Amino acid sequence: MVLERQGTPLQPAELPDPEPGSGQLLISVSACGVCRTDLHIVDGDLTEPKLPLVLGHQIVGTVAGMGEGAERYAVGDRVGVPWLGWTCGECRYCTSGRENLCDRARFTGYDIDGGYAELAVADERFCFPVPRDYPDEQAAPLLCAGLIGYRALRLVGDAERIGFYGFGASAHILCQVAVHQGRRVFVFTREGDADGQQFARSLGAEWAGSSEVAPPEELDGAIVFAPVGPLMTAGLRASAKGARIISAGIHMSDIPAFPYEILWGERALGSVANLTRRDGEEFLDLAPRVPVHTEVEVHPLEAADDALDSIRSGALRGAAVLRIRTASGSVSGTGPRRGGDAAPRHRARPRR
Ligand SMILES: [Zn+2]
Ligand SMILES: [Zn+2]
Repeated sequence: MVLERQGTPLQPAELPDPEPGSGQLLISVSACGVCRTDLHIVDGDLTEPKLPLVLGHQIVGTVAGMGEGAERYAVGDRVGVPWLGWTCGECRYCTSGRENLCDRARFTGYDIDGGYAELAVADERFCFPVPRDYPDEQAAPLLCAGLIGYRALRLVGDAERIGFYGFGASAHILCQVAVHQGRRVFVFTREGDADGQQFARSLGAEWAGSSEVAPPEELDGAIVFAPVGPLMTAGLRASAKGARIISAGIHMSDIPAFPYEILWGERALGSVANLTRRDGEEFLDLAPRVPVHTEVEVHPLEAADDALDSIRSGALRGAAVLRIRTASGSVSGTGPRRGGDAAPRHRARPRR
């Protein structure tokens, strides 16, 4: 599936097979998670994607080939590809352990074609081995929803009573991690979202209610997952002294003006940006030990727009994932792959 222009639906396409460059892997994609960031790219909230673009930065697949010098993986290995696709290694951020902020970073499914396709290429240094215990579709949401959420959780510090504003793909994973760490989780959803609140309680949240109401106790910190600026000030108002309120999204509506007294007392507002490879290694080591269970709604590749809509509408329970190849290597929902072309081609959308 290809995004030709922002603000338009994804288009089916047959693309030339990508060639792995130096240090890159050619990956046969099994599953690709669908992220709210993808929606921000389609909708034009993020303004500088490569176009046309193959979206998708939560790729799980197997190594099908390697470019010159690639040596970390073997053909057939299962790998995950996250949002962070390349960093310069030289800038002040890269050289101080903050490659997530690299001035020249390139991102999968934004600057580099991603995983809404049968084949992808990725720099092997930014790929991760996928934890064994997870089938492909359950593993995909760990790669962004999980690990960028994990970075946000770290930025909140050791808050015991933690608030989650919004309960989508990332929050449903982080709720399990936070409970595992002995924290008390308070979840805020849209008014009247009884299903979402029940889902949160089933994953260990101590309390779940509407973002319009105050929690039963003060919070020691909060993560705002929903792209809604007023939730940042709602978090401040609900929080105790010293609380950090962290936005986990890449885009958010404006944060309204607020009186200084709700920030006073060493409260802080902040954001999380991207990931470092260290975040990925730590989180993918931790997830099977919690163990994190990911609830996924699986869509065939050709229904990628439906998957994006389910995030847009808020009706989704857990994470949306595209199924691209079955374990046997055939393309989901279609017959065998076409052969006999003069040049090898792969579909960014299976033919109907
Ligand atoms: Zn850099
Ligand atoms: Zn993402």
